[in-house]
Amino acid sequence: MKVGTPKEVFEGENRVAMTPESALQLQKLGHTCIIETGAGAAAGFDDAAYEAAGVEVAKTAAALWKAADVVAKVRPPSEAEVKRLRASQTLISMFNPAGNTELMEAAAEQGATVMAMDMVPRISRAQKMDALSSMANIAGYRAVIEAGNNFGRFFTGQITAAGKVPPAKVLVVGAGVAGLAAIGTSTSLGAITLAFDVRPEVAEQVESMGAEFVYLDFEEEQADGSASGGYASVSSPEFREAQLAKFRELAPDVDIVITTALIPNREAPELWTEDMVKAMKPGSVIIDLAAEKGGNCKLTKMDEKVVTDNGVTIIGYTDFPSRMATQASTLYSTNIRHLLTDLTPEKDGVINHNMEDDVIRGATITHEKAVTFPPPPPKVA
Ligand code: NAD
Repeated sequence: MKVGTPKEVFEGENRVAMTPESALQLQKLGHTCIIETGAGAAAGFDDAAYEAAGVEVAKTAAALWKAADVVAKVRPPSEAEVKRLRASQTLISMFNPAGNTELMEAAAEQGATVMAMDMVPRISRAQKMDALSSMANIAGYRAVIEAGNNFGRFFTGQITAAGKVPPAKVLVVGAGVAGLAAIGTSTSLGAITLAFDVRPEVAEQVESMGAEFVYLDFEEEQADGSASGGYASVSSPEFREAQLAKFRELAPDVDIVITTALIPNREAPELWTEDMVKAMKPGSVIIDLAAEKGGNCKLTKMDEKVVTDNGVTIIGYTDFPSRMATQASTLYSTNIRHLLTDLTPEKDGVINHNMEDDVIRGATITHEKAVTFPPPPPKVA
């Protein structure tokens, strides 16, 4: 099959779904590869690098979509891209199927098979294809770098000839994939790092990274927030109050807050309130990774950086992975390559779309002219 990657059409998107290295790996599966001219430029991969890796370069998007049997891209397709889809073609991209129903139905009508990278089940066998995790890892790292860029002091404490410098104090709210990456980055830069999560089972992991887990003054165990599959559930009002009381106590003391709290299929829980922002010191920074889902901080503005009257910088960018496009493209293209490895079991360049396979079934949202989303729960954990 011919696997093709167009240039992303979403404004400001710098990532690309195929790198020269991933193309070499795809060719080992018996596929040939094609890329739209300039598709990798913003991520640091020029046409010559693809050509050197045996990839054909298409002069236009139209030529690319026409030539490819499998189209691999990063962002969900635009309406115009869905119109380009045809029967017998497979599209692999992020899709957000729950929020893009019309696009999904249109793709089904065109007869194309669509696989959503954000629907790959979070089971151990599929970790290597888990693009949400690989992108969240980058976002967590980049959140700390962005915070440092907007913070006027060092992260680590120092005793210098010119005076003693106190370490920065960083609070990470939510210790999932992005949160743990932020914690690791923050401690490695030398900041005193505190972390909170509603799932108490992550405390040990947080502490093993050199951070301090924040426990609540709550009568019941902090087991309140755990649900199935490593995800959180909605907290009880009492638990939430205890959590907010603890954050209120911490607000005047912390320099940087990184919020990553997420409950699947819901708006982000509001955890950093206006009065907490007002209680923070001037020069403090909040990075709200949940901005796209409404934000964990009341004052976050999506895709913007705002500075409050009391001098607190709040960043709500939703494109952290795109801001590290080379790294993000390398990891994302590897996720795609692993999915294609499962789709090409004989390594003979022939796609076997096995709907009995949990991972393939879970990610497939349209197939044989039908919408196949939502998928049944995976049989294996
Ligand atoms: P995840 O599910 O791995 O982690 C979310 C964590 O939040 C879980 O550990 C959960 O227990 C915790 N949580 C839920 N409710 C909480 C609460 N009330 N208090 C404290 N913790 C709570 O998710 P992830 O992959 O780490 O993603 C985190 C967020 O980052 C998501 O909102 C995601 O959309 C976002 N994200 C943003 C960007 C960006 O560029 N801004 C990029 C990638 C991901």
